[in-house]
Amino acid sequence: SKRFRNVKHLMKDRLPGKIYNILVEIGVLADQVGMNAYVVGGFVRDLIMKIENFDIDIVVEGDAVVLAKKFAKLKNAKVSVHYKFKTAVVILPDNFRIDFATARSEYYDFPAAAPKVEDSSIKIDLYRRDFTINTIAIKLNKEDFGALVDYFGAQSDIRDRKIRVLHNLSFVDDPSRIFRAIRFAVRYNFDIGPHTERLLKHAINLKLIDRIVGQRLFLEIKYILCEKEYLKALNMMKNYGILKFFSNSINFSEESLEIFKFLDKLINWYSVQINRNIEIWIPRFNLLFHSLKRGEFIKLLERFEFNSNYKKYFASQVFKSRNAAIRLKKNKNITNSYIYNTLKDLEDEFVLYLSAILGEKFENLIKKYYTYIKEIKLEINGNDLKDLGYKPSEKFKYVLDKLLELKLDGVILNKGDEIKYAKKLFEEIESGRNSGN
Ligand code: ATP
Repeated sequence: SKRFRNVKHLMKDRLPGKIYNILVEIGVLADQVGMNAYVVGGFVRDLIMKIENFDIDIVVEGDAVVLAKKFAKLKNAKVSVHYKFKTAVVILPDNFRIDFATARSEYYDFPAAAPKVEDSSIKIDLYRRDFTINTIAIKLNKEDFGALVDYFGAQSDIRDRKIRVLHNLSFVDDPSRIFRAIRFAVRYNFDIGPHTERLLKHAINLKLIDRIVGQRLFLEIKYILCEKEYLKALNMMKNYGILKFFSNSINFSEESLEIFKFLDKLINWYSVQINRNIEIWIPRFNLLFHSLKRGEFIKLLERFEFNSNYKKYFASQVFKSRNAAIRLKKNKNITNSYIYNTLKDLEDEFVLYLSAILGEKFENLIKKYYTYIKEIKLEINGNDLKDLGYKPSEKFKYVLDKLLELKLDGVILNKGDEIKYAKKLFEEIESGRNSGN
């Protein structure tokens, strides 16, 4: 690897000491078992671009399982092995994970200009990757520690800000790369190279997207929706004619762009105010497929191979959200208890979707729901009702729910009120004036 530059100093500058040391240790162990070890792919790409990425993928010339086990032993870590593919995942005691893979060096079915049999396995392994910017590795063995391995112009394409495939059949071999190309392009603000773009358009014309396995297709759209610049990606997908492979009913127009932007504003507010991580792809996904009717939406989830429980759960949350939006828009007299009852069965991801489709007029309603309505709790519970002499039954739930509604709407204010109204509600039930339904 003498012909390549050494990035040891860049590693030292940019990586946390813990990560740097892990890489050194792997190199030392690789020497001991007479193998070459490299850190590859996204980790190296992002290091060169000075972007934080500590997902370590190790490729080994030799059996990666042997090296992974040795490393796991040294670090007192867990290791889970996939013998068939000769890969392993090492999980350190602090839960940090490191992937080990054996260099894939089969040389058949390569197009012309591909590496030859006598080439190193790392070269052949890198050649199998999706884009040139990902075909870069750093050698870890002691003597060459930090040597960049760059056979296919990764550094120059990173410098030129270009997404390029390695050969003409790349999208045919794996059409999911169509989505990956778009994802990397928007993430790094790179262009898709002109030749690569021609190949990509050709793959789209050949309808190769229809051949992508459902779970893979879902992951690709999910990853895109998790990108900061996902709207750029959706716009590219629209222009390339990709969206129609999900459904013919998608409406991704100028107006819908405004709704997405409003959604992102709400998500922003939510993540600042409410200290909870959400699955950001979910509200974006629901908005993207908002114009699909129930049957079409379910068909899409089936195309994505959602398992039947998740499909049911997801669809029910979506359609509850849509119905709630319609009801809220119609209702002239929206009380706190009405808001609470309408939203309480929805996960936050779906409340955010619902808020986006409700629009700016309802922005304060949603904010009130999270900052005020959801915080209101009764001071009494079932035990207090027992202490009052009532026998536990399903009536307890009715009474407590009813009390909460009264509290939400400001009819009752404190514990004294709660007890007073609890008694009153039980009396109403007993006297049959109220059946409890
Ligand atoms: P991210 O930052 O999104 O995780 P990444 O480059 O680390 O980006 P992964 O999906 O984790 O992406 O993949 C790791 C490496 O495996 C990539 O750098 C790429 O070289 C290779 N790879 C992943 N998917 C493909 C594919 N479909 N075809 C070829 N190579 C792939």
